[in-house]
Amino acid sequence: MFGECHAHIFMNGYNYRKAVETHKDKVNERIIGEHLAAYEKEGITFLRDGGDALGVSDACRHLAKDYGIDYRTPIYAIHKTGYYGGIVGRGFHTRSEYEELVANVKARGGDFIKIMVSGIVDFSKKRAVSGDTLPEHTIETMIEIAHKQGMSVMVHANGEIAVKAAAKAKADTIEHGRFITKECLEIMAENKVVWVPTLVTVKNLKGCGRFPDDAVESIYSEAVEDIKTAYACGVQMAIGSDAGAYQVYHGTATVQEYGCFQEILGAGDWLDAYLEKGETRIQQMC
Ligand SMILES: [Zn+2]
Repeated sequence: MFGECHAHIFMNGYNYRKAVETHKDKVNERIIGEHLAAYEKEGITFLRDGGDALGVSDACRHLAKDYGIDYRTPIYAIHKTGYYGGIVGRGFHTRSEYEELVANVKARGGDFIKIMVSGIVDFSKKRAVSGDTLPEHTIETMIEIAHKQGMSVMVHANGEIAVKAAAKAKADTIEHGRFITKECLEIMAENKVVWVPTLVTVKNLKGCGRFPDDAVESIYSEAVEDIKTAYACGVQMAIGSDAGAYQVYHGTATVQEYGCFQEILGAGDWLDAYLEKGETRIQQMC
């Protein structure tokens, strides 16, 4: 089975607040073990985390080996204070505070830097991202600083402005990437950015009752078209489900994400080879 290139081991797939409670006072190794076992059960041996604010991902590094999993982590994700990202990491106000957070990840043996540069999809609407997007020059500077410290960068980005800025600044991977244009994809291809589109974060919401189905359908249809365009443009993509997010369960979600690619691009050895290449590129950069 393929690896999982975007998971949050601290989340549980159904309730964020419960996940925080679980680990708040002390990291709950039993629950981490349950999540890791879910990957082991599916034959998943590579896992890249997207970070958390509670030290769960940090603790998981020492546990994953027991489940035969090669686990990579940014420890925490980094966001600019006042913007989206507090739920998975730490905030900064100034450039030097950001530099310190990057240096701290490096010193603690983090495998790469994860940054948040936009909000998340608002599933109650057909085409909306929550909150504000960071200014283009801030996105550029954040990527540049991490690269200067010798770290690759995983970028959470939604919306044309955020994705274009991250791709232009040579982000190593772009995560989610909803509501983008062909131009964004062309820049990704040109700059050899790997795209992890986390399709099941949308698809698994169909019929769940929490969001209007017509909005979810519309968001997914647009993502499907973007996947086809991305492939045609030569963008390298990889399997990452954002496991831990709502309705996205550890282990099974990775298999479902693979299913989305098969459904959209057509199943075959060529697809497997293509997706494996994406995973290998990610393994090499972290
Ligand atoms: Zn994530």
